[in-house]
Amino acid sequence: MDIFIFDSLSRKKREFIPIDANKVRIYACGPTVYDYAHIGNARMAVVTDLLVRVLKKKYKNVLFVSNITDIDDKIINESKKLKIPFKELTNKFSKIYNNEMLSLNVSPPDIQPKATDHIDDMILMIDKLIKNECAYVMNNHVMFKVESYKHYGKLSRRTLEEQLEGSRIEIADFKQNARDFILWKPSKDEQPGWNSPWGRGRPGWHIECSTMSKKCLDTPFDIHCGGVDLTFPHHENEIAQSCSAFKPNSEPENFSKYWFHNGFVTLNGEKMSKSLGNIQLVNDLLKKYNGETIRLSLLSAHYRQPLNWNKDILEQSKKTLLRIKKKFEKIKVKDFKIFDINKNEFYEEFQNSLFDDLNTPKALSIIGKNLNKIKEKNHEDRQKITHATFEALTLLGLYKENENDEDFDDTLIKKLINERNEARKLKNFEKADEIRQNLKNKNIEIEDTKDGTVWTKSK
Ligand SMILES: [Zn+2]
Repeated sequence: MDIFIFDSLSRKKREFIPIDANKVRIYACGPTVYDYAHIGNARMAVVTDLLVRVLKKKYKNVLFVSNITDIDDKIINESKKLKIPFKELTNKFSKIYNNEMLSLNVSPPDIQPKATDHIDDMILMIDKLIKNECAYVMNNHVMFKVESYKHYGKLSRRTLEEQLEGSRIEIADFKQNARDFILWKPSKDEQPGWNSPWGRGRPGWHIECSTMSKKCLDTPFDIHCGGVDLTFPHHENEIAQSCSAFKPNSEPENFSKYWFHNGFVTLNGEKMSKSLGNIQLVNDLLKKYNGETIRLSLLSAHYRQPLNWNKDILEQSKKTLLRIKKKFEKIKVKDFKIFDINKNEFYEEFQNSLFDDLNTPKALSIIGKNLNKIKEKNHEDRQKITHATFEALTLLGLYKENENDEDFDDTLIKKLINERNEARKLKNFEKADEIRQNLKNKNIEIEDTKDGTVWTKSK
């Protein structure tokens, strides 16, 4: 089965054909870390995580890069307000962000570059853009000359007038044309800044992604992901910069082959915004619901559709997960793991729905249908359906094998540790090592201290 994804650049659902099937490369715009993540940020992370999981079903080697924006005007303003160094603020919130995403079972990106670690590369890219006559220096700023890139507007399909409206920019004394955008700006003495050929300053937001994606993945890469609200101007500007640095006026496909955008999250039908005071923070939601419940809620709508967030979705997801847990309570996963999942027609139907542009509503309805069938079918089918459902939930990030591993409780761990200590006393180190390894396979780390052997469970 082939994988199809909707590509926002061509506005078509297209078969996914990687540039190199031995190394699929994906980039997603990560968070600007100065505050807690809201549910809209989480939707992007969860949906992109699912895309990566699905691609991994077909391709062995998938490289996923998502950055951290740790220098930005919002960061500078917030750190000034809190009277703390900007690094302290960004370190704190990048840790919080990563922990929250882990709670939602989002696998960490393979590479998570930080903007401030790549300032030199940004300076080199800006320099190249100036040499290619796609950028200019004016009043200590470096500006991208939008009219130098003839494909500008192709992703967002905005007219010239709409581009001016959308970017909310005005003619300033550092730009030749209202549409031009900042690549480098000067920093005041008290603001964070780096030395550059254009004076002490800092990069604009858009150049950060162009530079880090080039550095970590090289261009062109396969898929660029992000929330639909980033399409203009951010993604349009990324394309203009990356293509112009490579070869002026080259096609947008020279940057990324596919553009994958997820829809908005609204709250009770209204757009979430700070000014309306209706932002839902992941941090607050995690106090009331577990990560799987929030994750299932985020996956309940198709990723391209707007998601209307409300309490009902959360309560419904909570119920669904409880029902699943109940069904699986008495089932031992290892009993049916001997079967080949690739020859399981129940799983195939589920997987095909995800291969078809990540159709999660359909995938979830297949799981629901199969859960109802578990009782009815004959023994072999029951085994197959149970196995398919388990694998399906694992792929969606809604179930962890260890949670179901009833055999592996504290009593058994203690028993194994005792056996290992006995083996060591008898100098049977081979057996002792084997037990240690078995525990390690179950994510149990043991440590021998002067007070005896202690164990910890790692995630
Ligand atoms: Zn970006």
